Amino acid sequence: MTSQRKLFVTTALPYANGKFHIGHIMEYIQADIWVRHQRMGGHMVQFVGADDAHGAPIMIAAEKAGQTPQQFVGEIAAGRRQYLDGFHIRFDNWHSTDSPENTELAQGIYRRLKANGLITSRTIEQFYDPVKGMFLPDRYIKGECPVCHAKDQYGDSCEVCSSVYTPTQLIEPYSTLTGARPELRSSEHYFFQLSRPEVVDFLKAWTQDGKLQSEVARKAGEWFEAGMADWDISRDAPYFGIEIPDAPGKYFYVWLDAPIGYLASLKNHFDKGQAKNHWHAPSRTEAGFEQFIADPAVEQVHFIGKDIVYFHTLFWPAMLKFSDRKTPNQVNVHGFITVSGEKMSKSRGTGIDPLKYLSLGMNPEWLRYYIAAKLNSRVEDVDFNPDDFVARVNSDLVGKYVNIASRAVKFVPGGKLVAGDRSALDAGKLVEHVQVLYETREFGKALREVMAFADAVNLRFDAAAPWKLVKEGKGEEAAKVCSECLEAFKVLTACLKPVLPALAAQAEAFLQCEPLDWGNAAKPMGAGHAVGEYKHLMQRVDMKLLDALFEVPGEPPSPQPSPASGRGSDPGGEPLAPSITIDDFTRIDLRIAKIVECKAVEGSTKLLQLTLDVGEGRHRNVFSGIASAYKPEDLVGKLTVMVANLAPRKMKFGVSEGMVLAASHADDKKSGIYILEPWPGAEPGMRVR
Ligand SMILES: [Zn+2]
Repeated sequence: MTSQRKLFVTTALPYANGKFHIGHIMEYIQADIWVRHQRMGGHMVQFVGADDAHGAPIMIAAEKAGQTPQQFVGEIAAGRRQYLDGFHIRFDNWHSTDSPENTELAQGIYRRLKANGLITSRTIEQFYDPVKGMFLPDRYIKGECPVCHAKDQYGDSCEVCSSVYTPTQLIEPYSTLTGARPELRSSEHYFFQLSRPEVVDFLKAWTQDGKLQSEVARKAGEWFEAGMADWDISRDAPYFGIEIPDAPGKYFYVWLDAPIGYLASLKNHFDKGQAKNHWHAPSRTEAGFEQFIADPAVEQVHFIGKDIVYFHTLFWPAMLKFSDRKTPNQVNVHGFITVSGEKMSKSRGTGIDPLKYLSLGMNPEWLRYYIAAKLNSRVEDVDFNPDDFVARVNSDLVGKYVNIASRAVKFVPGGKLVAGDRSALDAGKLVEHVQVLYETREFGKALREVMAFADAVNLRFDAAAPWKLVKEGKGEEAAKVCSECLEAFKVLTACLKPVLPALAAQAEAFLQCEPLDWGNAAKPMGAGHAVGEYKHLMQRVDMKLLDALFEVPGEPPSPQPSPASGRGSDPGGEPLAPSITIDDFTRIDLRIAKIVECKAVEGSTKLLQLTLDVGEGRHRNVFSGIASAYKPEDLVGKLTVMVANLAPRKMKFGVSEGMVLAASHADDKKSGIYILEPWPGAEPGMRVR
């Protein structure tokens, strides 16, 4: 075995203004699998998380809820456990950035940065809400876009024309908290001087030395090209946060103290004396924590999403380095989770509610397996597709892996293994290879290797046909083959254990083997070892559960098509879709669009590329499969109807920002395609209802 590693592993700290969503759970599953893999290799791991509790949004949300910020985040924190336990995510400690440890560490780091000459202050002008009595973050200011004059745009950018500006450029600005017109006031702010040459040089070296994923390093390179600005790390009272030492009325901006929360959670863990289980240094004293965190042998590993790379590859290492601390060894960035190709959104109801998943009695390990099967080491989005989910769980996990045990054990009398021929399946090679893939976060590849091995085991079983052997009076031969299969099942169980800890524990109990780890994974249980009685290990997924998971609350169950809608009476060649409510219909925003431009698409015989004006002050690009029915020049200048709130979709030829409506028979080759055109008088942007 390689020498024992000491690892300090974190996931990004969730903002404590809401429940966990499926994106959080995906990240925790990714990190938890990696940590379990390390523990199976005998390495010491401290795996911690915490709530990110500070900042204006929480202060304001608490006030709306009639609570103190502490009460508000306390209630959120109390709800965390059921998710973590429910999905077998085993943090060693869960803490909060609103804690004495974080206050002490954040103030300490700030003092060192200041002593090292990297903190400066200057007066800036900012919008102030005179009714609320506070300076307004950009997101609480709205007004008219200075470029396209769209109303009600946020203080930093326009959602209609995508222009970026400062809040002071807004026309008729107002506070979203009180509606009052904000006043410009000046205030002294504190800055971390990231633009200093020694900081920039350090960050260039740190981000480009090969520790980051290549796409992340490339992104960091772009930021350096754009130039590093000093970072405004202070906010004025009233603010829910940590006070800046020797600066009355000034607080750290939430993003300063948030990553320090990683250290605070670890310190809290040490102080509680729990860390000694994994780390044999004195742990009750501060020296234990400080000694651990400064130990050059300790590897600091962060798992984060792609939206917070800037903070974790620039601000965070710079804060640590210039306060004379050790910097992270790995920042592992993952993409977002989409559902059937759409970006998750609560309002559109396409998200997966993790608690609903659990409350429906869905097995948490189905989700762990599915997510693992989709994850790799790159910054790619992971798509949750219900059909794919059912297929992978039922055919791979249950059909290939679980079934080996239930099929093979029947032909091994008394469960007592007999010596078989193991040379056919190279377990040692599989175990070695899978470890490398877990280490490099290529979980999808690891599971493909495991399933290929399971395929080979099933083939061996089917080819030997033990049920026939028994009939032919060759029961001993059947027992041999099936002993081999059970040995292989043990190897597979070890290889799946980081992903499926509960199932592995059940399988270990059935096999009556010692707890599986990388050291014993490929070792045969051996002739004479008796396995226990087989109990069913895992159910198949029923598609109905997924229907229930995605059902929007309050929506009546979709009626089954009535028997009357037989084939003969299908209008237009297809039965009517299940009935919907008026609310379902209003979620689809149909608008009159003017076809400003229309072109053939090179390389496609089906598509036309339309440039549409929906009265938004900008144009939309839409690809439509109508090339068989219309020539581009016939359409220019015409009005039509489009789905205007369809999420933009990336296609081979570009991004399509909507869909044009057209009528056809189910077999459009027979009927042709007819796009819709409104009666005269309709204008671009009018809603169709
Ligand atoms: Zn605009």
